[in-house]
Amino acid sequence: MTAELICFERACRARYAITEVLYNCPKCGGLLEAVYEGAVPDAGQMKKTWRERRMSNAPLDQSGVWRYREFFPFLDDYRHVVTLREGNTPVLDAPVAAAYAGLKRIAFKHQGFNPTGSFKDNGMTCGAAQAMRLGMKRVACVSTGNTSASMAAYASAAGMQPVIFIPHGNISYGKLAQALEYGARTLQVEANFDQILALVRVLAERLGIYLLNSINPFRIEGQKSIMVELMDQRDWRVPDWIVLPGGNLGNTSAFGKALREMKEWGLIDRLPRLAVIQAEGSAPFYEFLHKGAGAVFTPVEHPKTLATAIKIGDPVSWPKALLEVTTTGGLVEKVSEQEIADAKAQIGLCGIGCEPASAATLAGIRKLVSAGAIDGEADVVAVLTGNVLKDPDYIYHYHTGQLKGPDGAGIRATFGNQPVVVPNDAERIAALLGA
Ligand SMILES: *Cc1c(COP(=O)(O)O)cnc(C)c1O
Ligand SMILES: [Zn+2]
Repeated sequence: MTAELICFERACRARYAITEVLYNCPKCGGLLEAVYEGAVPDAGQMKKTWRERRMSNAPLDQSGVWRYREFFPFLDDYRHVVTLREGNTPVLDAPVAAAYAGLKRIAFKHQGFNPTGSFKDNGMTCGAAQAMRLGMKRVACVSTGNTSASMAAYASAAGMQPVIFIPHGNISYGKLAQALEYGARTLQVEANFDQILALVRVLAERLGIYLLNSINPFRIEGQKSIMVELMDQRDWRVPDWIVLPGGNLGNTSAFGKALREMKEWGLIDRLPRLAVIQAEGSAPFYEFLHKGAGAVFTPVEHPKTLATAIKIGDPVSWPKALLEVTTTGGLVEKVSEQEIADAKAQIGLCGIGCEPASAATLAGIRKLVSAGAIDGEADVVAVLTGNVLKDPDYIYHYHTGQLKGPDGAGIRATFGNQPVVVPNDAERIAALLGA
């Protein structure tokens, strides 16, 4: 199949060579996406090949992204790929969480099992491969979160220099620590996120640095693998709902594109519905969809949530996400800080755990089930986007009743689990443990 970049705007649809260094459409400024043309490979044969590759020791086949490479055939030479064996994430049944949400059963597709602990790795391996193909020596992003951690790892593994731009005084230490360890040049700029983005675009052009920000169409292609791997793990049985948190809405765009293409390519026979969950203080997509027909998209100027991975006021990929939510008959919900924190503790009690943004899924499902929007008997898969260890401060503060919301209000330790100080005394400890 041949691959091209195409402008996402219906009124434009300009096409560009897959090897052009572009982030937005030069004609209209719209988002870009990869399109493939030519004969689609036989669906049965693809499924067989993908299953057989699980037995292979070849690095490309061991990757839970590149194993499915026929589904995003934008590369001409697979020697450009650097894999840390991303993907390969489990689908876990969670009865405790199901009961909490009012569902008969729920499964978590846990992207926190990735090499750097988030789904960003699924996309970054593709973005890094494209950068290598273009002969780039340096790559950059603006982020204090999981994108930085992932980009730093993949760039260093590929022998490129990672450069990270951070809004000054807005550092998330857990994730930044990963970026430093993986060797990223880290620059703190005295400006806000949007100003830095503009600055980085100028620098990227001047210094020949490739940008791996959230709108990078190749990252979106890689994130499609999350849906393909999920369907492969379920023997191609389509669930009723796929639920995920929404920040910049890149993942929503990737999941929707993957599902549409899987249906077009004959890999699945119907579409599941997408449910996107946002944090109340950072919910521009929710507000937009609930304003009704004719509404204009209004960014949230000062987004607020402890779930930093979805603390995004002006999500770049919202036009794509809108198409995907509409196409699947999906919906968008918002949840409070308290709801996120309690849902997160319940996911912990399943022996699974996740970072705060990921827990928005279970909180949202609980709300949607109780409102009757999701049936209690429905087949639901929630995607946990990040690892439990990304944000240990949050966890300790929650369980010890010290967690404060972004506005300073206390968050109740509904399912708190305090460590207890005991004397060095077997009798008294035995009594405490009820023995
Ligand atoms: C990036 C990220 C999100 C948000 O994904 P978008 O594609 O920006 O909507 C959610 N959770 C985690 C853990 C993330 O790293
Ligand atoms: Zn355009």
